[in-house]
Amino acid sequence: RSAVHKICAGQVILDLSSAVKELVENSLDAGATSIEVALKDYGQEWFQVVDNGCGISPANFKVLALKHHTSKLNDFLDLQSLTTFGFRGEALSSLCALGNLSVETRTKNETVATHLTYDHSGLLTEEKKSARQVGTTVTVKKLFSNLPVRSKEFSRNIRKEYGKLISLLNAYALISKGVRIVCTNTTGRNVKSVVLKTQGRDSLRDNIITVFGVSAFNCLEPVNICISEGCKVEGFLSKSGQGSGRNLGDRQFFFVNGRPVDMPKVSKLLNELYKGANSKQYPIAIMNFTLPTGACDVNVTPDKRKLFFSDETSILYALREGLQQVYSSTSV
Ligand code: ADP
Ligand code: MG
Repeated sequence: RSAVHKICAGQVILDLSSAVKELVENSLDAGATSIEVALKDYGQEWFQVVDNGCGISPANFKVLALKHHTSKLNDFLDLQSLTTFGFRGEALSSLCALGNLSVETRTKNETVATHLTYDHSGLLTEEKKSARQVGTTVTVKKLFSNLPVRSKEFSRNIRKEYGKLISLLNAYALISKGVRIVCTNTTGRNVKSVVLKTQGRDSLRDNIITVFGVSAFNCLEPVNICISEGCKVEGFLSKSGQGSGRNLGDRQFFFVNGRPVDMPKVSKLLNELYKGANSKQYPIAIMNFTLPTGACDVNVTPDKRKLFFSDETSILYALREGLQQVYSSTSV
């Protein structure tokens, strides 16, 4: 059982950023307005997500980390109208299999918090009282330590992993309204540094300003393209001649219905159109697609970042039309 569990777990949690992503999404699902991600040695020793969300009720302590335990999906119909990030109950059970998981939590109905420790198969092994405000802290120590190959890979790519994580946290900081996001890293000599700190404003515009600064924001212009009935793109794009001049992927953020996703085809289209008007530059892009449920399938890859669009060609076509108007009028 345990070997199978490890293999399956590996599909949801591919690396540091997918592990932290699951925890951050759980915090958002719990209604948190403050999320702090703490890393020790860039996440190699441990990482922790601290939130001020609703907390976990004692009735769920035992089953919390068991495979397919979720409090978010009651019947199949719910899948159609899903508003939470999580719904498959796989993240915590996967994290148990891949590292050492502990949880500290308190709901508003409790006067004290509880500290919970789980073993690799998701069983609760220790439960003790602790002190904490309402909310949840999930800590994972030694991710991948029981998978030697993955573990080696993890330490070899740690800087890259870390970069990917920061970019992902930036994506949540941009799209989440009213959620403060902080990330700290503590190095071997216990020097703690704040690597990201956002305020959690109420609009995409204000979030862009807190994440990238006013001068970066001033190089952008709003995009608002209607693709078809019930289907649109809103966000901000570099004005002509104001791109970042590099294409590290760290300044292009795509969302579908508020979820961060990878959109390589859209990115390629943007770069192409922008280059046509501006030679060597790459545009900064923060774009949220509003698509009707059913137009895409978030469940398609385990980390929920790759999407299938039922009508990708026409979405890309409409986008090209819309963007050509944005860029042709201002070509250099
Ligand atoms: P899913 O998010 O798909 O439901 P997870 O394995 O990520 O599955 O989490 C299992 C359950 O643990 C969730 O359904 C939720 O009830 C609870 N949970 C996890 N993290 C938090 C959190 N930060 N705050 C409140 N509840 C949480
Ligand atoms: Mg989840």
